[in-house]
Amino acid sequence: MELAIADKITQKPAIKRNVYENVTQQFNKASDLMDLDPDIRKILATTTNEIIVHFPAIMDNGRIEMFTGYRVQHNNVLGPYKGGLRYHPAVDIDEVRALATWMTWKCAIAGIPFGGAKGGIAFDPSKHSFGEMERITRRFTYALNGNIGPEYDIPAPDVNTNSQIMAWILDTYLSSVTPQERNRSIHIVTGKPIASGGSQGRDKATGQGTVFCIEQWAKDKNFDLNNATYMIQGFGNVGSWAAKLLKPFGSKLVAVEDHTGAISNPEGIDPDKLAIYVKERKGVHGYPAAEPVDHESFFKTKADIFIPAALENQITAETAPLLNVKLVAEGANGPTDIEGDGILQEKNIDLLPDILCNGGGVIVSYFEWLQNKRSESWELEEVDERLRKKVINAYKKVKNTSQEFNTDWRTGAYIVALSSIQEVYRTRGIFP
Ligand code: NAD
Repeated sequence: MELAIADKITQKPAIKRNVYENVTQQFNKASDLMDLDPDIRKILATTTNEIIVHFPAIMDNGRIEMFTGYRVQHNNVLGPYKGGLRYHPAVDIDEVRALATWMTWKCAIAGIPFGGAKGGIAFDPSKHSFGEMERITRRFTYALNGNIGPEYDIPAPDVNTNSQIMAWILDTYLSSVTPQERNRSIHIVTGKPIASGGSQGRDKATGQGTVFCIEQWAKDKNFDLNNATYMIQGFGNVGSWAAKLLKPFGSKLVAVEDHTGAISNPEGIDPDKLAIYVKERKGVHGYPAAEPVDHESFFKTKADIFIPAALENQITAETAPLLNVKLVAEGANGPTDIEGDGILQEKNIDLLPDILCNGGGVIVSYFEWLQNKRSESWELEEVDERLRKKVINAYKKVKNTSQEFNTDWRTGAYIVALSSIQEVYRTRGIFP
C-alpha cells in the first residue's frame, strides 16, 4: 500500500512559544467573565493524567532508536478522553497539554459525550521509512498499553498521522486483548480506513466542519461566498479539504503556504489540482500555476477569508498586523496567540475560533465510534447531514453566548464549554 505519510512531512517547525500559556490565559478570561465556580475552576485549570513513555523501535539498519511519546488526558467528566496523535519534532508536554485541554472545550461545545486528550511522538517522520513508521507506531501503542481504550481514551489522526497509522494502532491494540474482546474494541481509534471500520466522511470532516461554519458566518453577514477570496496556511488534511469544499461556492483560493513555502495567484488556484501536486511533490513549492511569495507577502495577501490550517502560534503580534481579511476561520488548533487575538479584535476581523471551527473532525469521530459500537455503517449523506446539524447548533450557541456576554467569539466559545461542564460537576458533585 502506498503510504501517504511522506506527503504529510513537516520539516520546518513553527517558532516555539509556550502554547499552554495561551490556553491558561484564554481560560482565565472566560472563567472571570462568566464567574465560573472557583472549585470547578481549580479542577479544569489542570490536566488529569500526563503519560510520558520512552520506548525503543528497531530501525531498518537493525539498530534501536529510542523515542519519547506523550498522552495527556485533560478531563473526562463528559465522557471518554478523546483526541488526536501528532508526529512532529516540536511535540512536547506543554503542546500536548494545550491540545488536550482544547479537546475538552471542543467536545463540550459540539455537544458530544467525550472528554479531552491529545498525544504524540516528538520526532520527524520525514526521516523514517514506511517500515520504521509502522514499528514506531506499534511500539508506541504497546507502550501506552492500558492508558488508552475504546471506552476510556480514543486516539485519532492529527498532524503527520493518518488512517494508516490508525490501522496499525487498531491492529496492535486488538492483538493485546482477549479474542472475545477483539470485535468489541474496534472503536479504540477513529479516523480508521473505511475497510477497517472507519466512517464515510471522516477524512474531510474537519475541513467540512470549517466550511459549514464559514457558510453560516456568510449567511449571518449577508456575505456572498461566490467570488469571495480565501487564503490557506497548511495544505494537509484540514487545509486541502477546506479549500476543495469551498470551490463549489465559487470562492477563489488566492494564496497558500505550507512547510515548503508560499504561493499566490490573484486569479485563483485550483484546489483539486494543487492537492494532486502536493500529494506528488510533498508541498506547494514549485506549483506552476502560481507565483512563489515569501512569508510576509503571504500574510499581506488581500483576501476575504484566512483559514490557518497548520500549526499553533501563527497569527501573532508580528503577523496579525499584516492581515488584510474579513474573517479568520481557525482550521488549526491554537493558530492565534494572545497578542494576535487582540490585534484581530482591534482590526475588526471576525473570528471563528478553533474549538468551534475545527470541531467537525471530532464530531465525525464520534459518529465513527457510535457506528463501531452499534456494528453499523452510515451513508455519507447521513454523516454529512448529522455533522451539519451539530456544527450549526454549536455555531449558534457560541454566537448567542458571545452576544449575551458582550465578548469576543473565542471567549464566548469557552463560556459555552465551561457552562456545560460546570453543570455536570454541580449535579454530580466531587467524590467522596
Ligand atoms: P497535516 O499533517 O495533514 O497537514 C499539516 C499542514 O501544515 C501541512 O500542509 C504542512 O506543510 C503544514 N505546515 C507544517 N508546518 C508548517 C509551517 N511551519 N508553516 C506553514 N505550514 C506548515 O495535518 P492536519 O491534520 O491537516 O492538521 C492541521 C491542523 O489542524 C493542526 O493544528 C491540527 O491539530 C488541526 N486539526 C486537525 C484535525 C484532523 O482531523 N486532522 C482535527 C482538528 C484540528
